[in-house]
Amino acid sequence: MILQKTFKNIFEEAEEKNKRFYEISQEHEAQTLDLSVLQVRDKVKVNLNAMKTAIEQGLKSKEKSVSGLCGDDCAKLIEKYKNGKSLFSKTYQKVLTYAFATIEQNIRMGKIVACPTAGSCGIVPSVIIAISESLNADDEKQIDALITAGLVGQIVSEKLALAGAVAGCQSECGVASAMAAGALVEMYAGTNEQILNAVALALKNVMGLVCDPVAGLVEVPCVKRNAFLAIYAVTAAELAMAGIKSVIPVDEVVDAMQQVGELMSPRLKESSEAGLATTKTAIDITEELREKWSLAD
Ligand code: SF4
Repeated sequence: MILQKTFKNIFEEAEEKNKRFYEISQEHEAQTLDLSVLQVRDKVKVNLNAMKTAIEQGLKSKEKSVSGLCGDDCAKLIEKYKNGKSLFSKTYQKVLTYAFATIEQNIRMGKIVACPTAGSCGIVPSVIIAISESLNADDEKQIDALITAGLVGQIVSEKLALAGAVAGCQSECGVASAMAAGALVEMYAGTNEQILNAVALALKNVMGLVCDPVAGLVEVPCVKRNAFLAIYAVTAAELAMAGIKSVIPVDEVVDAMQQVGELMSPRLKESSEAGLATTKTAIDITEELREKWSLAD
């Protein structure tokens, strides 16, 4: 049995068998890897635990990256929340801090789970783990959600390369946000149709997001973008669970993203030749780092 390559196909299979997406996905995975479903879930649990460890470590650290550009934003948020100052709920605060905690571990060269990429590693874990704490959801529910997220990423990747260098940041942080949105609907036991709408709504609104990292480092704008797109995933799930539908079906949204990725100039695909990377400040930073690192040689 081969995994169906479109959301429409997997939806039809799930409806026909009266199953949830994660059930279909774990069965496919078990067959492909010649494992039992339990063994597949154990492997997912290893990743879930690695995500939790990255968050725990990230929450305790203020260490900056080697460039000095990023690394202490999570600590700033924690300090703010200690003083009881926030516009939103505790869960919102956790989503934001967990996203920063994870991506900041990445820029310190700590261990993270790329989902789908290292530059977008904070989005899926922050949403799944923060919301599971608010729902008191056990590991099994979190594994269901993570498998759902993986399925979303896998189907999108059939058409769209998940790399900023190929299709811009829409295919990294954008896809991570859609994976998290789908996972979140699963955690709230939304329908399969609502999962697809959450994915479509998230993807539609990141279309064209460029990859323009300052000094070629996965730090600016990547770190803060993880926090923004984690919250964005929550919005997509909230809309979908209210019954709000994407007018454009999710498979067509993916086709459109693939087209946009192809049309996007290579200068906006991780080459740091346009966008934020060529602002005056970015050029000054790049020069400073070049000087510092060539002196260090
Ligand atoms: S801006 Fe580029 S390098 Fe940074 S997270 Fe997005 S795709 Fe990755």
